Amino acid sequence: MSDKFPKPVDPPRRVLMGPGPSDVAPQVLAALAAPTVGHLDPYFLKLMDEVQQMLREVFQTKNKLTLAVSGTGSAGMEACIVNLVEPGDKMLICVNGVFGGRMADVATRYGAEVMTIERPFGEVFTADEVQQAVKEFQPKLVGIVHAETSTGALQPIEAISKAVHAAGALLVLDCVTSLGGLPVKIDDWQIDAAYSGTQKCLSCPPGLAPVTFSDRAVEVMETRDSKVASWYLDMSMVRNYWSDQSRAYHHTAPINMNYGLHQALRNVLDEGLENAFTRHQRNHLALRAGLEAMGLNYAVAEEYRLPMLNAVLIPNGVDDKAVRSRLLNEFGIEIGGGLGPMAGKTWRIGLMGEACTQRNVLLFLAALENCLHAAGHSISPGAGVGAANEYYAS
Ligand SMILES: *Cc1c(COP(=O)(O)O)cnc(C)c1O
Repeated sequence: MSDKFPKPVDPPRRVLMGPGPSDVAPQVLAALAAPTVGHLDPYFLKLMDEVQQMLREVFQTKNKLTLAVSGTGSAGMEACIVNLVEPGDKMLICVNGVFGGRMADVATRYGAEVMTIERPFGEVFTADEVQQAVKEFQPKLVGIVHAETSTGALQPIEAISKAVHAAGALLVLDCVTSLGGLPVKIDDWQIDAAYSGTQKCLSCPPGLAPVTFSDRAVEVMETRDSKVASWYLDMSMVRNYWSDQSRAYHHTAPINMNYGLHQALRNVLDEGLENAFTRHQRNHLALRAGLEAMGLNYAVAEEYRLPMLNAVLIPNGVDDKAVRSRLLNEFGIEIGGGLGPMAGKTWRIGLMGEACTQRNVLLFLAALENCLHAAGHSISPGAGVGAANEYYAS
């Protein structure tokens, strides 16, 4: 072939230990490469049904309106908000990181009257704080992030959900990073709308946003006065395409992405949700033992740490970018830098889905020691790997 064209795609092999995307399993990559069929092909319609069924299992819900929005996690966020908000509706949003902030931005753009309550990055909300705010503001909707990927903090949800419902509001939950790595109990916790993404703990490439809506949320959508402000994300039409009854064309589903998600969900369910949660916790604790033995400290209090996103403080005098570039260039390992006010202050080490393995924990700790050493920061040789191995042996 002529060399006047760009070279064919040949990406480097990476170990994806950042805030997402995470490593993708070979079976998922193989599914993505399967032959494309039509978006109304009986084969594809059956596959859509199976994707919905498996999503219900992963979300731990019986919600009929559960499907994969065509778009990344942020499209899932917009889908939940735009279908439930009408201009002038009040929405309370809990902001303790970048993604809570994004939710407030989205709701404002769709005409909601937004009130925010805030906690510093790395901290979480108490049910009392939320209860106080819903009492004062009387919102129709409350939005909160389960796993704040920008800070590494895990937000307890159950008591907040009770407070929100006692005030007659609906609860919207961002579980982009938690789904597949931590329990997300949509029915038990009475979540009204939730969205996720494919590229975090589900270990599929980015491109789809699993969403689920409770019957209460569906009723709110069905009794709207105004049209949904987004044509593309209007669930009253999208759901007809996903419904086993009508199958009306709305937009062309990204066929091969749905193949990929189908296989990624099979992988998660084949391992078993509980086993997947245990694996995330175990590798997180091994990583933690290693990092602490190397003198690194977490940016989040112990009881609120996410297993799949480890935010640690960059040691004084160490050049953030030099270490991350060396990790990538010498070892092929990607980790994340800090976002927002944490920029330059933290590293975000992901242990999501396929990337959450003993192999990666030990590889990363050894590589990090090498990079810290190269950056002029000395630590006792082998301390991190040794402590992680000790944890694994215990
Ligand atoms: C990644 C992420 C998003 C956004 O998802 P995209 O796929 O990047 O659009 C939203 N919320 C949280 C908590 C995330 O981690």
